[in-house]
Amino acid sequence: MNYNKKSVKDIDLKGKKVLLRCDFNVPMATGVITDDTRITAALPTIQYVLSQGAAIILCSHLGRPKGEYVADQSLLPIAKRVSSLLELPVKMAKDIVGESARSLAQALRPGELMMLENVRFDKREEANDPEFAKELASLADVFVFDAFGACHRAHASTAGVAAYLPSVCGLLIQKELSAIGGALQNPTRPFVAVLGGAKVSDKLGVINNLLEKVDTLIIGGGMSYTFMKAMGGSVGTSMVDEDKFDYCREVIEKAKKRNVNLMLPLDTVIASEFAPDSEPALCKAGQIPEGMMGMDIGEATRAAYSSAIRSAGTVIWNGPMGVFEFPAFSYGTRAIADAMAECKGTAIVGGGDSVAAVEQYGLTSRMSHVSTGGGATLELIEGKELPGIACLLDK
Ligand code: AMP
Repeated sequence: MNYNKKSVKDIDLKGKKVLLRCDFNVPMATGVITDDTRITAALPTIQYVLSQGAAIILCSHLGRPKGEYVADQSLLPIAKRVSSLLELPVKMAKDIVGESARSLAQALRPGELMMLENVRFDKREEANDPEFAKELASLADVFVFDAFGACHRAHASTAGVAAYLPSVCGLLIQKELSAIGGALQNPTRPFVAVLGGAKVSDKLGVINNLLEKVDTLIIGGGMSYTFMKAMGGSVGTSMVDEDKFDYCREVIEKAKKRNVNLMLPLDTVIASEFAPDSEPALCKAGQIPEGMMGMDIGEATRAAYSSAIRSAGTVIWNGPMGVFEFPAFSYGTRAIADAMAECKGTAIVGGGDSVAAVEQYGLTSRMSHVSTGGGATLELIEGKELPGIACLLDK
């Protein structure tokens, strides 16, 4: 995977019509936007493109309308929000590539903005139909892709359209590529990865790729019990991936061979029930009594993991250390977030629940980078070729 892609800063935009694919898939309740983080995140790219003397045709998906017009999933409220945030008019098309979109796009002058309707109102979007991609492309001179959360999907408005227009990334994707790509390609050492979350099976690709690159691999969360059991430990009623014991043993072997410091829990916070008010107790890792389940990493583990994280040159974290949704079992995840904040190196929070945790603790601004993609971030860390990125012009 080549992470060195051209961005809006690398091409001449003056007088151009730019098709800008954003991620405006915001949470909505009966047509009202309940969280506009994704809209505000898109503004720097929009403002930069406008400042270069270009016109912008915004496009995005919203929800899963399955190829049909659904009034509740119209992008009109998004267009209104963009307009009020930028204090500029945003013309709303009644369709995606139809008469309305085409005539608005044709009349668009430099510095002006318009919005296409939800691309998923056309079933050709998710089918990555080349004709639909061509029709989208015909509205503009340049394609700018800035919907990081959608870059692992080959749809017409993500990868398809890039076959017909010079295509570059926006500032959001550029930041993701330079942070995560930079860490994977050229990390300041020691390079530490922290993986948690529910299952080993969700993170196979991530573990494999990171094992090739890191100095220290820290494992916590639900997935650590599969490792414990694979090493002959007892894990009580903890969650385990029954068919991943061999895989875990291979990881342990591979880490040894590659001189990777694989850190597994030393102690475990346990409880008899998966419930917020279940009484926490502490035991040694791999010695969980029958009828008890692992819910979080213990105190000694927190100290060991925190110390490795604090002294990292680069650290990348994905997945909570325990059931952080229950306050009594959130101390492990909190300790990792604190250590990331204290780390003097590059601290990257790689998507999903860890992002929610860091936000909950008010530590977002103390991280070097907080990735905004869920599945996309994991696939980027896996080193997979992402269709929405691979199709952009190389630097
Ligand atoms: P993931 O989506 O794979 O990152 O997993 C996140 C989920 O894993 C969160 O909802 C956590 O509550 C859950 N989780 C983490 N540690 C444990 C654990 N020890 N037991 C049960 N669930 C856990």
